[in-house]
Amino acid sequence: MDLRIRLPAGWLLLIILCLPAFSARAAEPVIIAGDSINLTSFPMAYYVDQSESLSFSDVRQQVFQPSTNGLSLGTASKTTWSRLLLENHSSHDQTLFLHHPYAYHNRLVGFYLENNATLIDKQIVDMDDAATSPLMYRGSAVYRFDLPAGSKRTLYVKSVSYSHQWFTLLLLDEDHSRRALIGTHTDIALLTGVLLALIFYNFLLYFASSNRENVYYSLYLISGAIWISLSYGLLSNLFNVYGSGIFNLHISLITMPIFLILFMTSIFATKDNYPTEHRFLNGMLLLLAADLFYALFDIQTALKPASTLAALMMVVTISVSISLYRKGNPLAGFFLIGHSCFLIFNALAVLFYKGLIGFSYIASHGVGIGITLEALMLAFIIAYRIRMLERIKASQAELKLQAATDPLTRLYNRRFFNAEADYLLNLASRQGTSMAVLAIDIDHFKSINDTHGHQTGDKVLVELARTLKANSRSSDIIARFGGEEFMILLPNCHSSEAMKVAEKLRAAAEACRIEAADGTLLTFTISIGLAVHHQTAGGLKSLLDQADKALYQAKYSGRNNVQAYGG
Ligand code: GH3
Ligand code: MG
Ligand code: MG
Repeated sequence: MDLRIRLPAGWLLLIILCLPAFSARAAEPVIIAGDSINLTSFPMAYYVDQSESLSFSDVRQQVFQPSTNGLSLGTASKTTWSRLLLENHSSHDQTLFLHHPYAYHNRLVGFYLENNATLIDKQIVDMDDAATSPLMYRGSAVYRFDLPAGSKRTLYVKSVSYSHQWFTLLLLDEDHSRRALIGTHTDIALLTGVLLALIFYNFLLYFASSNRENVYYSLYLISGAIWISLSYGLLSNLFNVYGSGIFNLHISLITMPIFLILFMTSIFATKDNYPTEHRFLNGMLLLLAADLFYALFDIQTALKPASTLAALMMVVTISVSISLYRKGNPLAGFFLIGHSCFLIFNALAVLFYKGLIGFSYIASHGVGIGITLEALMLAFIIAYRIRMLERIKASQAELKLQAATDPLTRLYNRRFFNAEADYLLNLASRQGTSMAVLAIDIDHFKSINDTHGHQTGDKVLVELARTLKANSRSSDIIARFGGEEFMILLPNCHSSEAMKVAEKLRAAAEACRIEAADGTLLTFTISIGLAVHHQTAGGLKSLLDQADKALYQAKYSGRNNVQAYGG
């Protein structure tokens, strides 16, 4: 099954689902009747002034296209006029409020009210001065006008956008107007809150692990949070900021995919593991970086290709994650789910911003919803990866331990002992401290095996290992050298002290009781040879030889005793 073939089908489905939005209705008057006015969907008409310079008297001569009250016309319709034909069929005068809830992301909004083809009122809000405008209520522009009983008015609304032209208009009575202004943007505050929590959590993770992907993810989240709070009016609503100053923050729309791609290259280690995919991601990164560079000088022009770049980026990132998924990367499946959410909602948004589909809550909030869903999935991926890294670390530590120890007794093996002893011996030589070594061998071990079986012999070995550990210091190096021979290195230990230790070990071994297979308790003894390293003496090999000779001496002296070399 090739998922890449299914992708265009998904797009097609989205377009078909959104097709009803294309069907323009005839321009008909908006009838005002009754007492409660709460019009969130009504007919109007629009005209795009391509020259961006026509006066009102010129514009009103133009042919307007019928539409609904929500419009999305892409980047080529910066100056757009809407026309509403209003008729009051009720028996009393009405005071109405026309809301332009997305005014904050425009350059300018104007209201022109006509009675019988005569201009009776005109209000212009320049967003650069909007903070003091009586028409601005946080992000929304609100135009209040009277519609006497039985009268007709024509209202023109001028929207001049910085980049993409999209807005919706609402026609409300005073009560609904007030409620609409209170109720807006709590959803966006929620989305932004989720992102802020993730940013905080992720910085904590970075300080704990220093993984680079946490930084990329944080920067991705910060870009997303900035873009969402800017684009959906949270900044305007919270801080009354509008206009060209904050419009520059749209640069976050370009940094967001950049950090997402960097996150991908980092978390999948594409450079080392997937060179082909790495090249694709880097190619995309290059395009975005070029656009970002352009945006530093002219953000409005740089945003023109933003939706095209976003669409291209989605194709690249989704193809790469499908490819990684098929190659068996354990994180790719999760990434694919998160990224599909991002893709679906962003595809809607791109179609919407390009003016290909009509106004809907999900389409107009697509980027925000997509970012938040994906951000949650990426947080999960990071958690999953931490678990993976922990497992790798644990298995590496286990391997290291296995390489250094004897599986039966869990004591160090000869290889580890030699390396460690060599190091400690050099250290002792340099520091002028003395060091002792004990060579230990079980007495008549062969007969224990012969009498009680090999398994009981093994039990003796394990019990002796436990006894040796229990009776020595943590700085001592205890190793099973082979068969039933053990070696203990005692750093910082003089011969008299070492003698005491050896005697203690011998006695402890003698006191051990081991249950044989037939239930009888058996005892065993050990012989110990002791050698002490002095500054003038030779290396490790000669020290071990001396300990061996002393052990031989102990065996010769009747076993179950300690002998010191040269003693
Ligand atoms: P001595 O007092 O002279 O040391 O007598 P001994 O019987 O201990 O003599 P030796 O050191 O030659 O015997 C070693 C025996 O240890 C021979 C071998 O069967 C046994 N052996 C070596 N490795 C293992 C092991 O891993 N498990 C068990 N059960 N026996 C082992
Ligand atoms: Mg032996
Ligand atoms: Mg022995």
